[in-house]
Formats: sequence, C-alpha cells, structure tokens
Amino acid sequence: MKNHIRVIDGLGRIAIPQEITNSLGWCQWSKISVTKAGSNVVLKTFKGVCCLCGTENNLIPMHSTHLCQKCIDKIKES
Ligand SMILES: [Zn+2]
Repeated sequence: MKNHIRVIDGLGRIAIPQEITNSLGWCQWSKISVTKAGSNVVLKTFKGVCCLCGTENNLIPMHSTHLCQKCIDKIKES
C-alpha cells in the first residue's frame, strides 16, 4: 500500500486518505480506537455504525461497510 504523508493541523487532526478509509469500510460516523504502540499510533475499527445515519443498531454488513435495517428499508421504498 502507498505511503501517505500527512501534516497534523492546529487541533491535532490528520486526514486519513480516502483510499484507506474506503478499503476499511470507514465512513463519517465510524468509531475508531486510537492507541499508542511504542513510537507509533495504531487506528482500529472500534464499533461498526451505519454509514448513512450513524446508528449502531440493527447493522447489516454491506460490502466492506454497514447499513442499518431502517436505511435499507428506506432505500428499498425509494
Ligand atoms: Zn442507517
């Protein structure tokens, strides 16, 4: 995988490349565990969320991410 270099902003944030977030199924509301491992930082998926509404309930795996049953029903209705 490509080595991405990022600059930490004034609030301590970095942008994770979309190539990586997409491959991990991370989206706007994904909860990520951040831990220090020696001189490195490890990011791990903490808990799955629906990538359309952010709920943690009634999740259905969809490709590499999750959707909730309510959002799936709304998609089917439209
Ligand atoms: Zn949803």
